[in-house]
Amino acid sequence: MTHILHRQIHAKLPLAVGGSGVELFDAEGRAYIDASGGAAVSCLGHGHVDVIEAIKAQTEKLAYAHTSFFTNEPAERLADRLIAGAPEGISHVYFVSGGSEANEAALKMARQYFVEKGELQRRNIIARRQSYHGNTLGTLATGGNEWRRDPFRPLLIDTHHIDPCYAYRYRKPGESEEDYAARAAGALEEKILELGPETVMAFVAEPVVGATAGAVPPVAGYFGRIREICDRYGVLLLLDEVMCGMGRTGTMHACEQDGVAPDLMTIAKGLGGGYQPIGAVLLSREIFDAFANGSGFFQHGHTYICHPVACAAALAVQEVIERDDLLANVRSMGTYLRERLEARFGNHPHVGDIRGRGLFLGLELVADRSTKEPFDPALKLNARIKKEAMARGLMIYPSGGTIDGSRGDHVLLAPPFILDEVS
Ligand code: PLP
Repeated sequence: MTHILHRQIHAKLPLAVGGSGVELFDAEGRAYIDASGGAAVSCLGHGHVDVIEAIKAQTEKLAYAHTSFFTNEPAERLADRLIAGAPEGISHVYFVSGGSEANEAALKMARQYFVEKGELQRRNIIARRQSYHGNTLGTLATGGNEWRRDPFRPLLIDTHHIDPCYAYRYRKPGESEEDYAARAAGALEEKILELGPETVMAFVAEPVVGATAGAVPPVAGYFGRIREICDRYGVLLLLDEVMCGMGRTGTMHACEQDGVAPDLMTIAKGLGGGYQPIGAVLLSREIFDAFANGSGFFQHGHTYICHPVACAAALAVQEVIERDDLLANVRSMGTYLRERLEARFGNHPHVGDIRGRGLFLGLELVADRSTKEPFDPALKLNARIKKEAMARGLMIYPSGGTIDGSRGDHVLLAPPFILDEVS
């Protein structure tokens, strides 16, 4: 009998007691290969000595200092490191404890930026269907997953959604990539014009869509056009790299591969690799200057922002990634894993698409390959896949359902960057 309100109240969860490398162990001595990094979190795998040592050392030195009184060394060093590797124009960092908090803070930054500039009418958020940006009220309203939003709808602010760039589902037969990129991005322009450009605050998107669509990368040229449209109408581009960022796609930031720089970017999961809860907003010089030259403060805050131990853990994770050249491993192992998936499932009657970037790969499951007909959601395929995989000692991340029109079931793979061909 547990006193924890678990997500799945009736599920009998194994008790995790340890982890090493790409494996987790339960109290009964069973090992599980972590092929999903939990939920794309454990980028260094489990039990990494360097990170553990950094956490110990920081805890002994300073565990906590409230940010209204102090700054602290690991937070300053982590900020320097993140800015040194950030997309063009990004100049500052705001540390929080996870992805939802990061997106919530980023939305408030976007709003306050326009308040500082006197553009008080800019309040509309445009995001995409089949997206997930977090479970707090603001981020839930922003995400386009109807199933997650449904019970809470009366509490959510109004937001607006366009179709994602999802070639497998939405590219028309015979349509070139370029034409599809133009059409998919054009939906943003149409929505901005419909709402009135002077009312639109931000466009929010995951460069590679994770949990709600199964590692869906954009087609070439899509984000370049999105950037142009945002610039044309003075709309801020907020890229949510909570899941796809921090090296998961083979470059530090997924958007590097699309040649765009956002005004705001959120990161979490792989930032601390699960060793501590941490997330961050990266913001542009322009936004920072509007705050600095305006009210002089950001009207937001949480008790654990810039947490020294969380920042020390993230710093250690990021140093290991650089020292061990793990992004090169993400690229080569990503290619290897994809080839293996294609060899094994490429002709499978129920695998419609295999896609992704780096070690962020997705399989879309279909009832019928030729029609792309999804499985009946009543089958609850994702829950069954997860259960079967766990019974075989494998952690994968299935998601899906058709309730919100996010057609299809998917399996997401996001193994640790330390993966080798043997594991
Ligand atoms: N944004 C994306 C793209 C995510 O995948 C997630 C979590 O899965 C979040 C935001 C929310 O992050 P967290 O669960 O750390 O609050």
